[in-house]
Parts: sequence; C-alpha cells; structure tokens
Amino acid sequence: MLLGKSQIDPGFLASTARASGQDTLSHCYQCGKCTAGCPTAFAMDYKPNQIIRLLQLGHKEKALGSRAIWVCAGCFTCTTRCPCGIDIAQVMDNLRIVARQEGRTGQGKRAVLFNELFLRSVRRNGRVFETGVVAAFNLKIGKPLHDTELARFMLKGRKLRFVPVRIRKTAEMAGLFAKRKKG
Ligand code: SF4
Ligand code: SF4
Repeated sequence: MLLGKSQIDPGFLASTARASGQDTLSHCYQCGKCTAGCPTAFAMDYKPNQIIRLLQLGHKEKALGSRAIWVCAGCFTCTTRCPCGIDIAQVMDNLRIVARQEGRTGQGKRAVLFNELFLRSVRRNGRVFETGVVAAFNLKIGKPLHDTELARFMLKGRKLRFVPVRIRKTAEMAGLFAKRKKG
C-alpha cells in the first residue's frame, strides 16, 4: 500500500542516521547483500534492504511498526556485507529503541517481554537462568507448554538446569543495573 505524503517524515532518515551513527545511510543502493545473508529474513515482513529503503523515503510509521525490527537477531551479518559500510544491525537496534520510546511495540510485544524477563534473570543471578526465563515467558503469554518439545533435546544434552546458578557478586550486578537505569 502506498502511503500519503502526510505519513512521510522527511527528517526520519537524518535522525536515524544521527542516533545510530551511520552517516552513509543515504548511500544504500539496494544491492540486497544484507538481505541475502540475513538468517531471519524469511520471517520478516520487510527485508533488511527494504527497511533501509523505508528510512530513505521517510516512512517512519512503517519502519517502526514493522515485524522485521523485532525478528532481527542482531547477528551483524548484514553489517559485515554492506558495500556502503552501513551498520544495519545498529540501525535495527536504534529502530527498536525508538519504537519502545514511542510505545510502538505492537509487533514486538513478545520480543520486548522476553528481553525484560532475560534481563531480570541476569540482574538477579548474574547470568541467565534459561529454564526460569522460558517458564515465566510461557506463563505470561498464556501457553505453559509452548515449545516444550525443544526442552527434551536440551535436557538430553544437559543444557538446562532446574535451579539457577548464581554468581558470587549478585549485589554488584544489581548495582550495575541500577546505575544504568539512572543514567
Ligand atoms: S547491503 Fe548495504 S547497500 Fe546493499 S541493500 Fe543492504 S544496506 Fe543497502
Ligand atoms: S543483524 Fe539482523 S538484519 Fe542483520 S543479518 Fe542479522 S538478523 Fe538480519
């Protein structure tokens, strides 16, 4: 669907370039190398090259409302491939930040929830307690048995624990989180 002029934010390219430190964002010429190497492109509504194009055209709503920015795994494959030196992974990260700041996490609700539970686990234990995070996530989304068949393989490979293993200095870790929150 084509967007009307009123839905175009001509300053969004510049603000994204500034916030993500990418002064070559406007140089993208749609070679598609980023998308060709992206391991999660198959699940995206807009491919990485299309997200960059949306930015160039000022389609802020579409970029921030996309599923793609939440499906991005931050693997940096796109970044290493871009002939224009654009750090696409950083751009995706910045779009997630802006989407959260502006309360537009509709497509990424589960990703945001998972991130919060993951960080809460790290704050408490000093490292992630996978079983606890997944159990809390499943309960929050109302599907207690979601993906439990995968647990079988992880248990077999002794990759899952039923009690958290804490670092000794959990108070220091909590302090780091508190400091980050203030900053
Ligand atoms: S690899 Fe770089 S230049 Fe090519 S489409 Fe992706 S962002 Fe654009
Ligand atoms: S950082 Fe994101 S967009 Fe780039 S290749 Fe990895 S998953 Fe795809």
